[in-house]
Amino acid sequence: YVIAANWKIHKRAAEATAYASAFLPAVEDVEGIDIALAPPFTALHELGRAIAGSPVALAAQNVHDESRGAITGEVCADMLAELGCAYGIVGHSERRQLFGESSAFVARKARALFDVGIVPIVCVGETLEEREAGETNGVIETQLRESLAAVAPEESERLVVAYEPVWAIGTGRSATPEIAQAVHAGARVVLRDLVGARADAIRIQYGGSVKPDNAEALLGQPDIDGALVGGAGLEPDSFAAIIHAAARAAAAA
Ligand code: PEP
Repeated sequence: YVIAANWKIHKRAAEATAYASAFLPAVEDVEGIDIALAPPFTALHELGRAIAGSPVALAAQNVHDESRGAITGEVCADMLAELGCAYGIVGHSERRQLFGESSAFVARKARALFDVGIVPIVCVGETLEEREAGETNGVIETQLRESLAAVAPEESERLVVAYEPVWAIGTGRSATPEIAQAVHAGARVVLRDLVGARADAIRIQYGGSVKPDNAEALLGQPDIDGALVGGAGLEPDSFAAIIHAAARAAAAA
């Protein structure tokens, strides 16, 4: 499993290091789960120092696809690598909706991350309107094909995909394990078409109101290989509880 917390615009640097002090001891006995924290850019440096040498990895919430130039306010992939980021989230629905980011742009961002050795976490997900219109699988397929257009089959096994139904993000209304599994299984079929048998190694996270009390059932599904966690990732206790739920799901698998 790969379990990542996306902090969005929460936590100043001092809060991030305080979080690390509480969180690291709470997960030190957990083995075999990849864990990542995605603070705001401004806390990457301090958090990176606080978690250095621990099994917890650093993740960025966004990146620009260009590596230099006159692009005010943006941050590029090698800058994130310099800070020690192991993962980078791209295509989060908030970026797609609030900033109009297209899947073609997401594909270029994923390429830029892979080029500097950072694993992209490529997010896809349908809106409530799309789900109610029966368009979920088509939307996910299109987003996957377009967002992964620049990923080579040889590198795809390292890729992380996050299925995040927009209606489940920050709403407290998680997809049921069955609903999530059905979409993940469909996504796996698309991934197989894109990269062949390597698709079985691609980890597909579920995201959308993952909490300590629903994480184990979600992660128990055959095609759910991790979680991208928003709200419940903001407190060290609840995020650690999700990590422990993942360890139980792994032991039961
Ligand atoms: C997210 O923003 O990626 C997310 C899944 O948020 P939450 O867990 O709060 O629904």
